[in-house]
Order: sequence, then C-alpha cells, then structure tokens
Amino acid sequence: MLIAADTAVDVAEASGGRFGSDPMALFEDWAGFTSWADTIEPGSGSTYERSSLTCPVPAPGQIFAIGINYGDHGSEVAMEVPDDPMVFTKFPSAVAGPFDDIPLVPGNCDWEVELVVVIGRTARDIDLDDAAAHIAGFAVGQDLSERTCQLAGAYPQFSLAKSHANFAPIGPEIVTLDELDDPWDLEIRCDRNDTTEQLSRTSMLIHDVPSIITYLSSTCELRAGDLIFTGTPSGVGLGRVPPDYLVPGDVLTSTIEGVGAIVNRCI
Ligand code: ZN
Repeated sequence: MLIAADTAVDVAEASGGRFGSDPMALFEDWAGFTSWADTIEPGSGSTYERSSLTCPVPAPGQIFAIGINYGDHGSEVAMEVPDDPMVFTKFPSAVAGPFDDIPLVPGNCDWEVELVVVIGRTARDIDLDDAAAHIAGFAVGQDLSERTCQLAGAYPQFSLAKSHANFAPIGPEIVTLDELDDPWDLEIRCDRNDTTEQLSRTSMLIHDVPSIITYLSSTCELRAGDLIFTGTPSGVGLGRVPPDYLVPGDVLTSTIEGVGAIVNRCI
C-alpha cells in the first residue's frame, strides 16, 4: 500500500500491475516506484485501518544494528563509546509488524527504541555526500534484547540475544525523507504503558545515518531492502538501579517524530 495523507492506494491495482503486491519487490526498482508514487494524488485512495498494517519490510536480506550510538546510553550501561560504529546483526527471522505482540522469553527482556533506515539502492563504497540517496526511507523499530544471554559469557552475544521471534518489530510504514522537515533531527521516544522510558533526538546519534551507511558499505554491499537499526538513547531497563525488565502485559509504544508509532504488547 502507498499511504498519502489519511488514505491508502493499492499499489498493484493502481499501477496496473507495473508493481506487484510484494513489498520486497518494490525495492528492486525503488527509484521507479517513488517516481510513480509522486504521480498519485494525496487523498485519492481509500481509508484503511492503521491497526491492520503489517511489516513494511517483511524479508530484509540483511539487518545491521549499531550499539552504543547515543552517548548517554553508553554511560548508563557502562560501555565505552566506540570510535567506529559497533556493528552486530539482528537475524532477519526476528522481524515483526508494527502492532504485533512480542513473546517474552526466559531471562531479562529489555526495550530499545531505534530509528530504522531502509536501504533503497544496492551499492558498495558509498560516499558520505551520496549516502542519503541510498535511503528508501525511515521506520520506527524496537531492538528487543534478552540481556542474560547477551551479557552472560566472556564474549557478548548481541546478535543472538536480540533475534528471538518478533524481537525486531518495525513500521508502521516506510516514510520517505522528503516527508520530513529535518530528517536528521527527530524526537525519538519509548513509552512503556503510561511511563515515558526513553526520550531523545536523532541529532544526538554519535555516528549519524550517512556515516553509518558509508562505514558499513566500505565492507558490505548494502542491498535494497536491507535494514539498519541505528542505536538507542538512554532509558533502557538494563540502565536502571535495580534493573527493570519487561513483563507480560506491558505495552511498548515507540514513536519517532514524523515517522509514526509502533505499538507492541508483551505476552
Ligand atoms: Zn539497539
């Protein structure tokens, strides 16, 4: 679906079959898709139920995630801020929709609201000043983490501990950068039930989005449809004294200014 204003257009139908109904196929020709989308009048579609939205990138080829990328989060979890981005993965089978439930697993499950970058063009060695052109858009994400497994051994298990079923909900849709007044400075927050746990701005990222793209693409080919979780600000449960973790029934509302909100209930 293409969403403009308060209505949505069925892409396969409105494009007369030029684009299909599989969202992943759109990334193959994201430039063609966005120019076609520009021809659609806002409000020309039909109304739709927000809660019916499913994962906008259901099968990403690669998911990159950046650790300790807001200074205040580094200090709360007593981890030093790295000179280069600290990179791990969330395995693609962890992705979930914007309103899906999160099954908690044994251990200590924690929240991390994050700005998620969706890559729109396949490339390696992307220059800093060309990085934004490789972005399809932004989404809101939660980097759910099970801290016991993550931190138990001599070597941290970031990737495994953050890849349980539905530990990577994203959405509610992909917002293209032209929809945002200043895409590099957006309020980011996480509410648990009625309490605001995290509140910051994406301008506080240590390694900003273009730098992350340049850094990752100097090693890996970034492919259209890949995701990058860009890091979380302070306010996670691990940083509390004593630590405070998710329990069944908690509802996480993760919001980024101009990008939207995802709502996930822990079960
Ligand atoms: Zn994270």
